[in-house]
Amino acid sequence: MRQDCPYIQSLKKAGYRLTQARLTVLDVLESEHGHITSADVLEKVERINPAIGRASVFRTLELFTQLGFIRPTYINTSLTPTYVMMHGGHHHHVICTECNRFFEFDDCGLEVISRNLQRELDVQISGHLLEFYGVCADCRGPDLAEQSS
Ligand SMILES: [Zn+2]
Ligand SMILES: [Zn+2]
Ligand SMILES: [Zn+2]
Repeated sequence: MRQDCPYIQSLKKAGYRLTQARLTVLDVLESEHGHITSADVLEKVERINPAIGRASVFRTLELFTQLGFIRPTYINTSLTPTYVMMHGGHHHHVICTECNRFFEFDDCGLEVISRNLQRELDVQISGHLLEFYGVCADCRGPDLAEQSS
């Protein structure tokens, strides 16, 4: 884990110690590029370091959610959250409702809306999670994909 990781910097700045649990959970989250269920986090953390208990993994996920590093989403099920990484406070994707595939994209163009909301509602906005739903080309099949292009 690099010391220049922005999440590590934020933890230090907020006065949190860099415990094994926090560093390992962060490592697991980052290695998945931002989409992982809590069950998978538990499993991977256990494989890396069995000394880290389930309770501290859950506490760490809770802390990271509070700090805005991650957000829980409920794509495939309402029971086990899938966590997404909030890089720079943003996360944007399109989800195929048929196969649950994710298409991440960087440019959201939401800065203006964000600024306006901040002014109108007098809320200090720190980030957003933008989710679109649709059916991907593979799930639509070749004929439909051709028609719509
Ligand atoms: Zn995503
Ligand atoms: Zn699909
Ligand atoms: Zn954005």
